[in-house]
Amino acid sequence: MKETSRNDLNTLFARLPSVERLMSSVPVAPLVAEHGRTQVLAAIRATLDAWRRGVRLSALPERDAEPPDEACIAADAARTLAADARTRLRPVFNLTGTVLHTNLGRALLPDEAVHAVVSALTQPVNLEFDLASGGRGDRDDLVADLLCELTGAEAATVVNNNAAAVLLTLSALASRKEVVVSRGELVEIGGAFRIPDIMGRAGAKLHEVGTTNRTHLADYEEAIGMRTALLMKVHCSNYAIRGFTESVAIGELARLAHARGLPVAIDLGSGTLVDLAQWGLPRETTVRESVEAGADLVTFSGDKLLGGPQAGLIVGRADLVAKIKKHPLKRALRVGKLTLAALEPVLRLYRAPEFLGERLTTLRLLARPAAEIRACAERVQPVFAQALGAAYVVSIEPMYSQIGSGALPVDQLPSYGLVARNASAKRNGGSLAKLEKRLREWPRPVLGRISDDALRLDLRCLEGPQEAAFVAQCAEAHE
Ligand SMILES: *Cc1c(COP(=O)(O)O)cnc(C)c1O
Repeated sequence: MKETSRNDLNTLFARLPSVERLMSSVPVAPLVAEHGRTQVLAAIRATLDAWRRGVRLSALPERDAEPPDEACIAADAARTLAADARTRLRPVFNLTGTVLHTNLGRALLPDEAVHAVVSALTQPVNLEFDLASGGRGDRDDLVADLLCELTGAEAATVVNNNAAAVLLTLSALASRKEVVVSRGELVEIGGAFRIPDIMGRAGAKLHEVGTTNRTHLADYEEAIGMRTALLMKVHCSNYAIRGFTESVAIGELARLAHARGLPVAIDLGSGTLVDLAQWGLPRETTVRESVEAGADLVTFSGDKLLGGPQAGLIVGRADLVAKIKKHPLKRALRVGKLTLAALEPVLRLYRAPEFLGERLTTLRLLARPAAEIRACAERVQPVFAQALGAAYVVSIEPMYSQIGSGALPVDQLPSYGLVARNASAKRNGGSLAKLEKRLREWPRPVLGRISDDALRLDLRCLEGPQEAAFVAQCAEAHE
């Protein structure tokens, strides 16, 4: 490497256009108009610094280095500014095979909900204003009647998510008292949501009964004492206990509780409002069935099988819901107008169940026939294979999707997808990891899963305009 004198470098650097000149130059003007002076100034300085650094480190004789011109610097700054202006929360392609993916935002909402949210964002709304009386209203009233109609419950309230619903229910009804729960239902949902911990946070004492695999009615009966506030059942959302098992049905537990003057609360987790079997999906106890079986309170999520926005719904006996609504935590856990705006039209869709399979996005995706997904795979396979290039072979294969979010953990939905394998005979996990990373770096990241030396893209969630967007992106990646 040739010795570079400080003097030569200074001469070269002096030939760079000055920051002031650049800022008032023609190619930079539109950047200032778009991003503002401060941002553009920083981007230009960064561009110039990077170039100087490059020259210092370069092995080239510095006299060969031609300083970049205004247009060149502006183009570089524009790239930096564009990358920086990209929002952090970005659309991705969920081809993981998990439809209700918690890390990818769970349920996708139907147009009715989208329009209602936009309207509530851009116009004043009667969030807590009673249009009939002209007085103050209750935000829960916007959806409470619908929830009662759809579940058969007497009353309803809405909070931020189901974890909040459980925390609030326990805080309001069982603080400094005991709650009886089966050892088979001491669920950890993921993150930090564990039933025993939530119980502690709510100030309630957990009274575990039975064993992991078997709990009988007599176990609950023996546990009831002076300090008992509540009998509770928790849906085993994300696991299944099989084999020599026994648990107590809601109806039986409710009869026992009511004979002792106690309420029964059920954390139903996903909580579906309709029998999913009519769309060929596995059966789940509905919220209405739980209420009819005698549950005094049922809590469930808004953004799992229900297909709505993130929310925690509490339905049940009017006196208990009233007590819950009066608890100070309710104010801390309440939902905003965007949630209620989105929730109401989603709940309304359930009033016409015959159209639900078409209109409720989550249900449409879950019930999407494998043949249709296969047809989609056949359409997108050529352009995807071309985008990946000759290093990979892409085939169409059957696979199984999952509902996700702890809903029906052991049931799988027949699907189809694209499977990318290394084209060379030698197994090479590294290059699959590289491919997976590359797809994550596409403008709209493509998320699949690696298993058995292949990158698998389940196409269940690639429907309608998503397919066109995916194809367009593949075509661009190939260029
Ligand atoms: C998912 C789930 C929760 C947590 O619900 P979020 O809406 O995610 O807060 C609580 N309990 C059960 C049984 C669940 O399945």
